[in-house]
Formats: sequence, C-alpha cells, structure tokens
Amino acid sequence: MKLKKDGPYQICTHCVMDTSDPDIEFNKDGVCNHCLKFEELIKQHIPGSEESLKKLSKLIERIKKDGKGKEYDCIIGLSGGVDSSYVALLVNKFGLRPLAVHLDNGWNSELAVENIENIIKKLNIDLYTIVIDWEEFRDLQLAYLYASVIDIEAISDHAIIATMHKLAKKNKIKYIISGTNIATESILPESWYYKHKTDYRNIKDIYKKHGSGRKLKTYPRITWFKMLYYNYFLNLTTISILNYIDYKKENVIKLISEELGWKSYGDKHHESIITKFYQAYILPKKTGFDKRRAHLSNLICSKQISREIALNELTIPVYKSDLDLNNDINYFKKKLEISNNEFDKIINTQPKSHYEYKTNRVFRLWNQRFKQLIIILKRNFYK
Ligand SMILES: [Zn+2]
Repeated sequence: MKLKKDGPYQICTHCVMDTSDPDIEFNKDGVCNHCLKFEELIKQHIPGSEESLKKLSKLIERIKKDGKGKEYDCIIGLSGGVDSSYVALLVNKFGLRPLAVHLDNGWNSELAVENIENIIKKLNIDLYTIVIDWEEFRDLQLAYLYASVIDIEAISDHAIIATMHKLAKKNKIKYIISGTNIATESILPESWYYKHKTDYRNIKDIYKKHGSGRKLKTYPRITWFKMLYYNYFLNLTTISILNYIDYKKENVIKLISEELGWKSYGDKHHESIITKFYQAYILPKKTGFDKRRAHLSNLICSKQISREIALNELTIPVYKSDLDLNNDINYFKKKLEISNNEFDKIINTQPKSHYEYKTNRVFRLWNQRFKQLIIILKRNFYK
C-alpha cells in the first residue's frame, strides 16, 4: 500500500493537505485537487442560500406529512459529537419527531455519555442504544488491527447504519437524517479510510482471515441486497441536513453548549476513546496519515479558519504529555486484552488496503445499474 506520493514533499498553497496523501495532485499554482473539488461541490450546493433553505423547508414538510400518525417521523444517529448533537437540536427546532440511535461499542468516553444524556433530556427525545456484544466486537476489532487495514471505524459505522435501517423499517420511518456535511467533512483522501461503509463482504472477509474463528452472531450487519430493499422498495431516504444550512463549526459549538449543555472533547471524533487513540496515535505512527490535516483543510475551504491557524494547530501534538499517551496505550491494551508483544505487532505491521480483501464492488455496480433502471422506469411511468 502506497503511503506517500512519489517525489519531493509538497503542501497545498491554499489548504494544508500535503504529499502524505499518496493520490494528491497540484495545479500550476500549487492548489490541490481537494480544494478544487470542494469549490465544485460548493457551487452545486450553496449551503444557507435562499434556494437551499427553500428546499430544506419543503423536505421538512414532506417528512412531517409522511410521518403523520406514526410515533416518529425520522431517525437520527447520536454519537454525542458536534455534528450529531447539532442535528438533534435542529430537527427539534424544525418540529420533527426523531428516534435517536446510539451505538455503544464499549469505547464511549464518560463525557460522551454525559453529553448524550443531556441532549435526550433537554430535547425530550427517545433514544435507542445498541449495546454491541463486547466479546464479539473485541474479536472483530482485533481482526482489523491484525489485518492492519486503515479504517477500524468501518465496523462501528457499519453497525450503526445497519441498526438505523432496521429500526426505520420496524417503525415505518422513511427518513434518516444524517450529520454528514460538506462544510467540515468533505475533504478526506480515499486512501485514508474505507468509503464503502455498507460493505459487509469486506468486513466478513477480514474477520474470516484474521478473527478468532468464532461466528459473528449478534453484530448488526446490512447486506447489499438488504440495502437495495430499503432504498428502492421501502423508499428509505437519507438526508444530509447540514448541507442545506450555513454550517459554521465555531457558532454551532457555542449554540449546542448554550442550549444543550454540551461539553467539548477537545478534537473532532474524540467522543470515542478508540477513535481518538487510533487517529492520534496508531494511524499517524503506522501510515503518517494525520486526519486533522484533512479536517483543518476542510475548515479552510469553507472559510471557517485561516491557513495559518491550521498550520499552527498541526504543530501541537494531540497528546499533550507522555503520561496522557501512556495512559491511553495502557487502557487500549487492557481493554482489548493484548500483551505488549501483540501491541508492538499491531503497531509495526505494514498497513494494508481494504481492497486486498473481498469487496462488494460487483454488487455496487449492479446497484448503480438498478438505480438507472428505476429512474428510466419512473420517467416513463410519469409521462
Ligand atoms: Zn488544497
């Protein structure tokens, strides 16, 4: 797996993405492909514009109409992070009636639990918490760590997507409101994560080759075929609500702190102990990928911070002292029940791409064809 772009070191003249992204390209002015892609994205989707707000208002009306007579009209994921907490506040302000879903994979920080409890109480919304079978999930996480694939979050993301879809069907809900957004999350090199979060085939193959051999009995999963069923037969729609509004992270943190009593974790995605440790220690140590670089670049492109601030932030280590780092290393080893040797093996194994394992690529292609067919059929049907 390629970890760096060949040739001399280069950093974008507009954002802070650099040649630690093996696929980065620069134009003649030294501006990277991520900045150019962001410009295109924002042109198609102008968050906070009159047109976007109008579209959002229509969507809200539709969600309310479709949810009439039902206990809930939408589902939201709630990790306790900035984006999902803001989505909870927004849907409440819009008068929607959400069912919130939270994944307890055993790695929640105490502060995350406190934040979630506050949100639920203040907004008076129902929460469904999936508590994953720890022994099974530990096995799966160890399989990912021994396989040395990039995206250990993929298994948590998959479980929450699967559960949200299942709950939507059970409660006859037609909308999943997501906190994914262009303003803070659209820049992320493809080699730094595995983008096909619904690819259970990939999870299964990695587990088969590196797991303990026990069968995954309770892990929430969604197959390609089920996805097709949810999307086309149940018409389950996912809406990225934050893309319609002018999303400024600093203002949002202030707002959720004031209105929901939300407390900061220090950095993006640090509500989970393993996400923090993986992103701040394991991933940079093994690959040189520092996800903060992508996140800060995103904030530069959406005009939320200056390049100077971002460059300065990157010089500050996430772990402020060796004591902090050692505490997390010891917690990680204890929680996963691994020895010093096993930990060293995890750290020193060369990273591998998810594509070296089986994927659902063929099914995804079929899915695309099926989607096109549906569009053609609908067009002819409504003629
Ligand atoms: Zn750039």
